[in-house]
Amino acid sequence: MLSKKALTFLRELVACRAPSGFEQDGQRLLARYLRSAGVASAFDVHGNLHAVLNEGAPTKVMLEAHCDEIGFLVQYIDENGFLYLIPNGGVTAQTVAGERVVIQGREGPVNGVFGVRPPHLMGAKERERVAPADLSEAPVDIGASSKAEAEALVALGAPAVVDAGWRELAGTRVSCRGLDNRIGAFIAAEVVRRLAEEPLAPLNVALHLVGSVQEELGLIGGQTAAYQVNPDIGICLDVGFATDATPADRRKMGDVRLGGGPILGVGPLYNPKLRALLEGAARQEGIALQPQVRARASGNNAFSMRTQRGGAAVALVSIPLRYMHSPVEVVDLADVEKIVRLLCAFVGGLPAKPDLTPEL
Ligand SMILES: [Zn+2]
Repeated sequence: MLSKKALTFLRELVACRAPSGFEQDGQRLLARYLRSAGVASAFDVHGNLHAVLNEGAPTKVMLEAHCDEIGFLVQYIDENGFLYLIPNGGVTAQTVAGERVVIQGREGPVNGVFGVRPPHLMGAKERERVAPADLSEAPVDIGASSKAEAEALVALGAPAVVDAGWRELAGTRVSCRGLDNRIGAFIAAEVVRRLAEEPLAPLNVALHLVGSVQEELGLIGGQTAAYQVNPDIGICLDVGFATDATPADRRKMGDVRLGGGPILGVGPLYNPKLRALLEGAARQEGIALQPQVRARASGNNAFSMRTQRGGAAVALVSIPLRYMHSPVEVVDLADVEKIVRLLCAFVGGLPAKPDLTPEL
């Protein structure tokens, strides 16, 4: 299982708020964790985090995980001091009713709540739609009594996230907002830490870790980083849909279970030889994989690495996640450990120049 040090770091990483465009606090924690393993890192102009092991080897492997999470931006403050937010990434407005929210204020965090009307005061018809259809129907109450008081605390454009932190559930399962995709960023950093600190053998390839920004706004940091790194192999680490709690979703996304092990992307985007290498590493480690089939699969940074410059051979390794893009995302830490082990075995076992051109 994950070491105490790794678990402490993970809790710290998800506790910090990193909505798209405001990832710095999380990025700094990732850099610190890498530094503790003797791995230097740097930020590019977008805020993407870069680190390299065995730089200059003939094959470049880019291990990419996006570091941002969905959230909100303050758009408007009304005359009574209530805030109106717009989504920053894919938010389901209905989930915010009665939630707490933290806004990045002018001088530190500002707390607020998405208020709800008392049931006593609603007619039967009104009760049917307590949840807002749109964030414009969900004012945030920060306790201010006037526009001036609110404006003194919060600037327009300030980022916010729901205030729903780390909760341990039964067994090895945890719930938290923002596990998409801080959990992927954590795995990427932990893989690099283990390869740096506990190498089984010298690496034959260069491993480029990229913690990318603004994925939730359209793969922005992943595209620029893929162009910059120009990898031969791209491994995208992101959350994937678990369908065990919502069986109807199996018809669209297959049978994927929490605790069932890493999800491996299957479909035209993904390089078949690379997939076979990952399957071999999984067999060697005794880890079961869960296939999930996607056709165009343009919703993650595997797509970015596949389509920048000449295009890398790509694979998508996903962490099974329930309730994606909600305040109560759930993962199983047993899956997290398995993915770390899988990727360490895969990267550690790569030859200097793997031939990934499909057989014709
Ligand atoms: Zn997402």
